[in-house]
Amino acid sequence: MNSTAKTHIVMLPFLAQGHIIPFLALAKQIEQRTHFTITIVSTPLNIHHLKSTTPPSTTTINFTDLPFCSSDHGLPPNSENTDSLSQSQIINLVDASQTLQPSFHNLISNMIQQHGCPPLCIISDVFMGWAINVAKSFETPHFTFITGGAFGTAAYFSIWLNFPHRKTTSDEFSVPGFPETCRFHRSQLHPLLRAADGTDIWSRLIQRQILLSLCSNGMLCNTVEEIEPMGLDILRKITGLPVWTVGPLLPPSLLNRSASSSFLSSPLNVSFSRSGKEPGIATENCINWLNYHPPESVLYISFGSQNTISSTQMMELAMGLEASGKPFIWVVRPPIGFDIKGEFRAEWLPEGYEERVSKRKQGMVLHRWAPQLEILSNGSTGAFLSHCGWNSMLESLNQGLPIIGWPIAAEQAYNSKMMEEEMGVCVELTRGLESWVRREEVERVVRMVMNKEGKGLEMKRKAMEIAEKIRDSVREDGDWKGSSLKSLDDFLDTVVLSRER
Ligand code: UDP
Repeated sequence: MNSTAKTHIVMLPFLAQGHIIPFLALAKQIEQRTHFTITIVSTPLNIHHLKSTTPPSTTTINFTDLPFCSSDHGLPPNSENTDSLSQSQIINLVDASQTLQPSFHNLISNMIQQHGCPPLCIISDVFMGWAINVAKSFETPHFTFITGGAFGTAAYFSIWLNFPHRKTTSDEFSVPGFPETCRFHRSQLHPLLRAADGTDIWSRLIQRQILLSLCSNGMLCNTVEEIEPMGLDILRKITGLPVWTVGPLLPPSLLNRSASSSFLSSPLNVSFSRSGKEPGIATENCINWLNYHPPESVLYISFGSQNTISSTQMMELAMGLEASGKPFIWVVRPPIGFDIKGEFRAEWLPEGYEERVSKRKQGMVLHRWAPQLEILSNGSTGAFLSHCGWNSMLESLNQGLPIIGWPIAAEQAYNSKMMEEEMGVCVELTRGLESWVRREEVERVVRMVMNKEGKGLEMKRKAMEIAEKIRDSVREDGDWKGSSLKSLDDFLDTVVLSRER
């Protein structure tokens, strides 16, 4: 038997940038701490991007693609990643990804023929829950890697599985597994979830993936034990599985605020430029602009790689930001109803807006995509107005930046709730696809957070405490190891022991 095969881990992320990035970061961590062989499996275009942004000289990780043609599944050609799809098309991609099962099965079977034994384990995404069937058929341990946080994932699982909002007429409700005092609100649910009843396509698909992932041998979660104790307690209780905390899985440039300049050459830089412009130049412009401003004075605004807001809300946000007088960098994506891949249109913003705020050096408007890691790790950035996607939250909290929440979809509203109520680092401005916030409220909240007085100051203090805990979790000092490193080593020992038994 070949010893490489004995320590071979196969990883299968969901087809979205926000999932592929932490999977690659997890693979890198395992690579650094062991002599294991790691193979990341995905569709051809995702593997092509991974290969072209991860120089072979920097890694021993293998990348393997499975045949996939998006147009066979009613998706636009070359759509192998949620980034290029509208919210309503994402369900088709989740559905289509299930068709990878037979070729994934063949891949594992070929690996066994080649090496004489199955991989040590398969680690797959929650949304690739079917991979557990393949693992089981080869009697290989299977682990689910949760790229989200513990509280948000626990709420997402419990609400999709139990539909607690359907059991009451009131707007507020409690969620199985959560303390009675931790109430949720109907407006925190995506309209699809509000309408779901267990018989529709969304419920069937999502419930199936969650239930499959509950049959795993355990879960890895992209969080830190010390920052989410309540969420982890609940997640462990409702899944009944061991949960190893292995976060924050961030690109290396973010582990140190002063080391940001290495990002563009970072092997983990898989965030592709959407602007069509030279990414290096766009980044340089941002950094120069940021460096012109005093420390912690700039608000960064982004709704992530998949979400956007309505055109009326975009106008209110624009006016509120301008009225606040605070400097800002804002990544503007096409508003709801416009082609997600379409060109920027000046009419989305008030007349003459971009020129006005740029001339005054108050605002920098970026079209579609920003070098987020560079921006967050620059000392002039003081806070983040975000859709509360978990990667963005870890990237921001790791820098000790408070958050203005504008959650839109998935588990974002639960992340925002936890960060506001538990961590005290966030203030939620508005929420949901049907959000309605006025410019005056935008102005008030931006001032409150950026002035760093009263509540704003308290948020900053708490964000710095969380940053300290996050950084400690991945620190090593002689024999002493931070909780996330300890947890990852414990996971790897457990997997090796299960093979030896
Ligand atoms: N991102 C970026 N530039 C952008 C928007 C997003 O680099 O203009 C990166 C961001 O740093 C993060 C990821 O894309 O790593 C977004 O993941 P997140 O979980 O925050 O949100 P999602 O896009 O999955 O909703």
